[in-house]
Amino acid sequence: MGRLFLIELEGRIYSCRLCQSHLGIADDIISKAFHSRNSRAYLFDRVVNVTVGEQEDRMMMTGLHTVVDIFCVGCGLPVGWKYEFAYEEDQKYKEGKFILERNQLAGPNVNAFPFVEAFGLVGIPEPVDDA
Ligand SMILES: [Zn+2]
Repeated sequence: MGRLFLIELEGRIYSCRLCQSHLGIADDIISKAFHSRNSRAYLFDRVVNVTVGEQEDRMMMTGLHTVVDIFCVGCGLPVGWKYEFAYEEDQKYKEGKFILERNQLAGPNVNAFPFVEAFGLVGIPEPVDDA
């Protein structure tokens, strides 16, 4: 398997709860009023570091949609789905948008120490006191 090049986000970041790969930022949330079977869910304008599964038609509370499940590229955790097509006229705004399930997310955390995450270290480095 090749080396993974993960995209790093800036801002208030939601990450995969298992491997901490960045998935989306708070500024890209369109709505927090969504639900999945297991969890509250947020509608995002865009997400990063995900792969997509097979396209399928799924009946939801708001009607029939064509969706693909999305998975964390770091660890394979199912994190939500993407709306490819909405059959109901008033649901068209969701096309091309992403759902992330709240219970699969860590955060939001402000990305103040990106190098810590990049090297997989745990915690924040001790400040060096030269006095
Ligand atoms: Zn992950």
